[in-house]
Amino acid sequence: MEETKTAIGFKCEIVTPEGLIYDGPCDMVIVPGEMGELGILPRHAPLVSRTIIGEARFKDPVGGWTLLAVGNGYVKMQFDRLLLLVDTAEDAADIDTDRARTALDRAEAYLARAHEDDVDLHRAEQSRHRAANRLKVAGKA
Ligand code: ATP
Repeated sequence: MEETKTAIGFKCEIVTPEGLIYDGPCDMVIVPGEMGELGILPRHAPLVSRTIIGEARFKDPVGGWTLLAVGNGYVKMQFDRLLLLVDTAEDAADIDTDRARTALDRAEAYLARAHEDDVDLHRAEQSRHRAANRLKVAGKA
């Protein structure tokens, strides 16, 4: 007998140090991976992978797509349960663009004096990347 194919989602949790950002069903999740975007559908093979600063999107079965700005982290998919564990995650609509612009200016000021001993180049670059990403994602809200 032919198997009946029904649309099934999977369980998705998005967690930051501040708590649970989303816990519910998903039809699809797209996360920024080191090699480009990683799209995850139901019944995906087991996976653990690093994720980078960028855009994450998830589609829940009723509300449609949600767009988030995310920091660095990890994604794990196993047994139709996805965990996205990231430093930061903000819904595009909740991003404070003035704050992001201030953070971007501050990071650029550090980078402008990158040759000086007290400047942590990696930290300034990451800060600039987070702020620029927030501005990009907020622009799509
Ligand atoms: P800032 O210097 O403005 O704090 P940051 O890049 O150092 O920026 P993070 O350490 O990445 O800040 O984030 C600290 C917390 O503040 C996280 O909870 C993050 O979600 C939140 N956050 C940071 N910037 C914004 C923003 N522009 N809009 C909304 N939330 C933000």
